[in-house]
Amino acid sequence: MNVLGVESSCDETGVALVDADTSGVPKLLAQALHSQIDMHQAYGGVVPELASRDHIRRVLPLTGHVLSESGRSLEDIDVVAYTRGPGLAGALLVGAGVACALAAALGKPVVGVHHLEGHLLSPFLAADPPEFPFVALLVSGGHTQLMRVDDVGSYELLGETIDDAAGEAFDKSAKMLGLGYPGGPALARLAEFGSGDAFELPRPLLHSGNLDFSFAGLKTAVRTQVLKFGTNVCEQDKAHLAASTQQAIVDVLVKKSLAALKQTGLKRLVVAGGVGANARLREQLNAACAKRGVKVHYPELALCTDNGAMIALAAAMRLQRGLAQPRQEYGFDVQPRWDLSTV
Ligand code: ATP
Ligand code: MG
Ligand code: FE
Repeated sequence: MNVLGVESSCDETGVALVDADTSGVPKLLAQALHSQIDMHQAYGGVVPELASRDHIRRVLPLTGHVLSESGRSLEDIDVVAYTRGPGLAGALLVGAGVACALAAALGKPVVGVHHLEGHLLSPFLAADPPEFPFVALLVSGGHTQLMRVDDVGSYELLGETIDDAAGEAFDKSAKMLGLGYPGGPALARLAEFGSGDAFELPRPLLHSGNLDFSFAGLKTAVRTQVLKFGTNVCEQDKAHLAASTQQAIVDVLVKKSLAALKQTGLKRLVVAGGVGANARLREQLNAACAKRGVKVHYPELALCTDNGAMIALAAAMRLQRGLAQPRQEYGFDVQPRWDLSTV
């Protein structure tokens, strides 16, 4: 069964083809991605209308690329999957519209996928895929959640952010430091030249006793420090602040992940979402988990942020288990706000 996946929830157009038989982890045949970063950079963030228009331009050429790279043709596609939500409504509508039109033309079924389920399952495409059950730390641009995952479709929310997401904390701090968009990778690069304990920054909810997160206070502390810097700040101080900000975020993510593992008694942790690419987070999680006999799984670096492969994969894993409702009616809707634990 060949599943084509189309991702268009934000500022990446992703298309991929996976091959899934009835058992075993689906295999990625090919994927193609276009990031709109350059286009949005001038505005310091994603401009929704520009995003939608660019998805329109990109999605079909990317699909052609995936088919030629995988050596498959349109007729080889058995199911077309697309991101149904959450995300930007206009951007989602482009992917959904193209996916449904393509499926209608081919007479094949369509499946709408939850974007976060894509992120969550993306480590299954890595060389050493996880086994169920596990604790998932989902850290992306819009979400920060800890979940207990017993199987595909069995997601129990253990805790989440009450304000900003971890990726947002990276992005907003980076913006205040004048590092551009998207800030996470830029802040992480600058942090390599600074010391993580140079500035004392808050670690909100670190001792809250539950598994919730909060990053708004950290953002305010970074802003206060940047204002203190004034205009004559030296690069070294900026690097120290970047490193201290990263360290504050990582400390909270690691501590809460360990608490979730302890609470559930599970010995497997799966990290997913863009912030999962952060080297400091990986280093600290690996060390803490090794000490406790916990195995940690990450997506391949290229699959941490948005991509079509995770959407094709999530659809395929649901189809393998009879959990998706493939349909051959091609009317579609999207769900810009959508809670994963209700899927
Ligand atoms: P969501 O999936 O919640 O809708 P999103 O799709 O925008 O949000 P992702 O694509 O998963 O999020 O991840 C993007 C986020 O990851 C951005 O906030 C980005 O700054 C952050 N990020 C990417 N690489 C790194 C890194 N190396 N260190 C820290 N943050 C990073
Ligand atoms: Mg993005
Ligand atoms: Fe995402």
